[in-house]
Amino acid sequence: MTTVGILGGGQLARMLALSGAPLGLRFLVMDTAPDACAGQFAPLLVGDYRDEAALAEFASRVDVATFDFENVPAESAEWLAGRVPVFPNPRALAVAQDRLVEKTLFRELGIPVGAFADVGSLDALRAEVERLGGACILKTRRLGYDGKGQFRIKSPADVDAAWQALGAQATTVGLIVEAFIPFERELSVVAVRGRGGEFRTWPLTENWHVDGVLSASLAPARVDAALAEAACAHARKLADALDYVGVFALELFCRDGGLLANEMAPRVHNSGHWTIEGAETSQFQNHLRAVLGLPLGDTDVLGQACMLNWIGEMPDAGAVLQEAGGHWHDYGKEPRTGRKVGHATLRADSASQLAEALQRVGRALGREAQVAPVVARLSG
Ligand code: AMP
Repeated sequence: MTTVGILGGGQLARMLALSGAPLGLRFLVMDTAPDACAGQFAPLLVGDYRDEAALAEFASRVDVATFDFENVPAESAEWLAGRVPVFPNPRALAVAQDRLVEKTLFRELGIPVGAFADVGSLDALRAEVERLGGACILKTRRLGYDGKGQFRIKSPADVDAAWQALGAQATTVGLIVEAFIPFERELSVVAVRGRGGEFRTWPLTENWHVDGVLSASLAPARVDAALAEAACAHARKLADALDYVGVFALELFCRDGGLLANEMAPRVHNSGHWTIEGAETSQFQNHLRAVLGLPLGDTDVLGQACMLNWIGEMPDAGAVLQEAGGHWHDYGKEPRTGRKVGHATLRADSASQLAEALQRVGRALGREAQVAPVVARLSG
């Protein structure tokens, strides 16, 4: 009996545990919160990721360890890797934890990125904003997620306000300023690399964010084959360079028909949730197969799929459940503003059927605005 240890016990760990059940796997989840939602399906060890005694207990009870949470301290991941196999490896985790290191690696690998700079002072920020043309985003280098730890600078006049908001973090987690990319689309490649280097990607996904948080995903993204191929080639280069094992997502901006990499997530990813019902093998199942050294499953898409995120509170399930291709995921979390509490996936054999199902669900739930950009893309 194999036990997979997961650091972080949120919905990603929960969906990993659910997808691992048919493989006969057991799980142990570690989280700082006693009510972490994966704990409803797997034994939960409550502890701080820096607590060696808790990490030692975790290590003694698992055969292999992986992550649902990318901000587990890199030193803790290193410490653990001295005791049990850890996938992805701690170096990959460390790179993905730091926007500056990550973007520098993209550039070294020839993966196109927008202009960016490390900033340590207000003067440096002012100079960089001038150099980058005024429209920028100031971000924390580390520990930011879902648009948190970011300040949109529309012109040099916003520099003081940006520094006021985030400047104190220049000496703790560090700051990076990026040129604002007026992108036409946001895309992601969800990919998996096995222990032996075998590599697969799911079809490219198009994503829509609201206030920096993913709202909807459509797969396959309606892009030309050359662009999809380029995106997958970037993902492969990155995975090989990091000797990455497991699933990851590479987030990309599409602008003037070209691609610019934004960031990588070293774990299963929200933009890959549609793969549970919309692909031959889900990202969760393939992540487990990868970390266990099992053959990877096909990533072929089954028709077309759209995932809608539920943020804050769950809507009524009925409208989705009555759709032929409607699938419901309630993470079992307490409602809270801004919190990801669940998602739905609608799957159909054609774009027009998917658009119709989205419109019905949007109307029934009063979420026309959430489905509108996806319907527009499907109808375009
Ligand atoms: P991130 O945390 O970097 O993934 O940013 C969250 C969201 O903010 C992205 O999905 C984009 O919608 C937006 N965003 C982040 N960086 C940029 C940028 N340099 N230019 C334009 N939009 C951005």
